[in-house]
Amino acid sequence: MSIEVVFHMNRGNGDSSYASNSHIQGIGLQRSLSVLQEAINRIAKDLNGFPRCFKIADLGCSSGPNTLFVVTNILDIVHDMCSENNSQVPQFQVFLNDLVENDFNTVFRSLPAFYSKLKKKKGDKRGPCYVYAVPGSFYSRLFPDENIHLFHSSYAVHWLSQVPQGLENNKLNIYMAKTSQTNVFEAYRKQFEKDFTKLLVLRSHEMISGGHMILTFAGRSKPDPTSEDCCVIWELLAKSLVDMVKEGLVEESKVSSFNIPQYTPYEGEVRDVIQKEGSFSLHSVNGFALSWPTPGINTAKFIRAISEPLIATHFGSFIMDVLFKKYQEHVIDHLATKKGMNYNLIISLIKK
Ligand code: SAH
Repeated sequence: MSIEVVFHMNRGNGDSSYASNSHIQGIGLQRSLSVLQEAINRIAKDLNGFPRCFKIADLGCSSGPNTLFVVTNILDIVHDMCSENNSQVPQFQVFLNDLVENDFNTVFRSLPAFYSKLKKKKGDKRGPCYVYAVPGSFYSRLFPDENIHLFHSSYAVHWLSQVPQGLENNKLNIYMAKTSQTNVFEAYRKQFEKDFTKLLVLRSHEMISGGHMILTFAGRSKPDPTSEDCCVIWELLAKSLVDMVKEGLVEESKVSSFNIPQYTPYEGEVRDVIQKEGSFSLHSVNGFALSWPTPGINTAKFIRAISEPLIATHFGSFIMDVLFKKYQEHVIDHLATKKGMNYNLIISLIKK
């Protein structure tokens, strides 16, 4: 039976893990700024200026401090371009998408401050900006045909629609790991291909031709699916769970039946899916490595923030404190001899 992913990653344990989570993702958002600028330039060029209403959607927006950050950046880029060309600022329709469990009310409550900042910054020149929530999975249709000019997503599309099927022999691993069997890598890769293809098909229907889509997500730097920069972080968590099994705190069968619904693709795999699906041309790919948040305690908090709902649903929330204490120790041990790195990809796509 497949397990649907029902979780909300940024809803952490209510402590500073949230801040460290947002911090690392914030760096990624900064990196994507120049890619964003390029895409917006191209949209304006292709359409002979901005449309009367510029429609933007952010997929997997979450409800944290970064939620409106990208929207602010997009508005700033458009405003700057319009004032350079002495042209009228368009109206904006901004769609914030996330799973139905997302705390959209927190986002809504931050809107008055967002609007008033916009008014203060841009004065009368600002184009009106209308913000909407679009609850639902980005692996389903979210918008009518040929509607959106610019799709954006950061740190969301590496989450799969479900745990791949056929991972029964992944034993005490919780993701692709050095000791995983070939079928495990295959199952993960297949699920990614299926999901990423679906994402492209769905969005291609919802975008205007010439529209852009910018996706930032976790990947890996090498074709090897056990590449350190994507798997170690989960191997250490698996180790911590095994510690708990040994201490009789967690049942072994619980660990054997747990796998993370995530895939960290190699650039070549992403290119292949885009080419096979055929609706988009790949305009640019940027790969970059980020160090794990330091010290180790912050890496542990970061991973807790993104995995807590999944782990709590499967094992029960009572294991969290002990588990992450152990995890923190494993991370610190690891960092004593090795560098902890994550690998990220930013891709810019144009709808054909
Ligand atoms: N974009 C934000 C948040 C990243 S956290 C940032 O860069 O800081 C990842 C978000 O993706 C979570 O809020 C999670 O709920 C959402 N997400 C995961 N799978 C999703 C899906 N299938 N559809 C919509 N949102 C999804």
